[in-house]
Amino acid sequence: MTKALSELIEGSAQGSLSLAFICIDINEFREINLSSGFDVGDAVLDEVVYRLRSALRQGDLLFRIGDDEFAILLPSILHEDHAILAAHKISSSFEDLIIVRDSEPMDVRASIGIALYPDTANSDGELLRQATIARYRANTSKSPFELYKKVLTPGNIQPVEFARELRRAVSNNDLELYFQPKYELSSRAITGVEALCRWTHATHGMISPAEFIPVAEETGIITSITSWALNSALRQCSEWRVNGKPVVVSVNLSAYDLDEGDFPELIQRTLRTWRVHPSQLMLEITETTMMQDQKRTIGILRRLSEIGVGLSIDDFGSGYSSLNYLQQMPVNELKIEKDFVIKMERSESDIALVRTVIDLGHNYNLTVTAEGVETEKAEKLLVDMGCDFAQGIYFSSPVPADELEKLLD
Ligand code: C2E
Ligand code: MG
Ligand code: MG
Repeated sequence: MTKALSELIEGSAQGSLSLAFICIDINEFREINLSSGFDVGDAVLDEVVYRLRSALRQGDLLFRIGDDEFAILLPSILHEDHAILAAHKISSSFEDLIIVRDSEPMDVRASIGIALYPDTANSDGELLRQATIARYRANTSKSPFELYKKVLTPGNIQPVEFARELRRAVSNNDLELYFQPKYELSSRAITGVEALCRWTHATHGMISPAEFIPVAEETGIITSITSWALNSALRQCSEWRVNGKPVVVSVNLSAYDLDEGDFPELIQRTLRTWRVHPSQLMLEITETTMMQDQKRTIGILRRLSEIGVGLSIDDFGSGYSSLNYLQQMPVNELKIEKDFVIKMERSESDIALVRTVIDLGHNYNLTVTAEGVETEKAEKLLVDMGCDFAQGIYFSSPVPADELEKLLD
């Protein structure tokens, strides 16, 4: 975040007034750039800025905080409803189609997240983080905007209780690791597996990691989950190697893991504990995480890369990496966001996008894995485009270790 913006935040919100931070991200802006060209992309941004300005009241401030990301600061509000009203106005300003130059009218939408200072956030960094979490929520729940609430939990489970149960599940070893095979498309051999965690709750049944990982991140439980996942995955990897079935295991990381200064040492220790060669471990970091604090991320990734583990950018295509930074990231693999792969069968523009990512990866000497391969047709398209690896229910869903062993045989 710009220095000026953080100073403003620190200086605002006095007395009984709150400050609202609204974070706005243009959906699928990358696709507009790719399909219509950067000129049209720039013109769309100009129009977006014009509309955002028109939605503001006097005293509200508009910032551009990324390629297609904006922030609006409402410096003094009496009640959260004021922020909600503003978000309504912002989201309605995207309702009219955007027409620029000779392009077809475009339905441009935005994801909007709101956070309040000092109500839930107590620093500028927290404001940005909470507004971003709320924005992700808005995007996945397809709602026009979302206000950050302290602990967001699935269904009807009480938030505090949910976090407590999750903590208990971790310490009782109630989480389980499933493995999804990764196939080399040219040989159709399994060359690796991705470890994905599962939580079967006594009364609520299977809870998706997409639900509990965000809670784990918010409550700090994520550090224990990562350490548990690394240990379980490497123990399994070691066992498979001893049984003559060597596979590379991929483990997912969260942004918070990278905040731990000694994270590379944890990786080294765990590799030694299970006597696994670094080349047998791959760490997956989502594109959005990687782009959060790029300079710091590059530093940590360099240290991890020196250890010799593989590094992969997960859900590539869902964020908006700058190519300049991508070039500096010491990574080995791009994993294409599964939504694009799934949509490929219905939309030419998604085929173009997947092809662009594959070519981009290869130009940077990275291997490319497609996730979300659900059909024979998708596999065929990917083979034709020269994609290296694939994962998806067409090959196999994530399964427990013993079932994966059968697939390896
Ligand atoms: P991810 O790392 O991108 O993992 C891929 C997700 O796609 C998995 O969801 C997998 O079950 C699902 N998937 C696999 N094949 C298909 C397919 O053909 N079609 C569709 N629609 N989906 C498919 P899952 O297991 O629910 O995990 C969701 C996310 O939760 C993961 O996304 C990852 O970001 C996170 N996650 C899972 N385990 C861990 C973990 O141990 N640590 C951390 N930090 N995050 C984890
Ligand atoms: Mg992953
Ligand atoms: Mg993914």
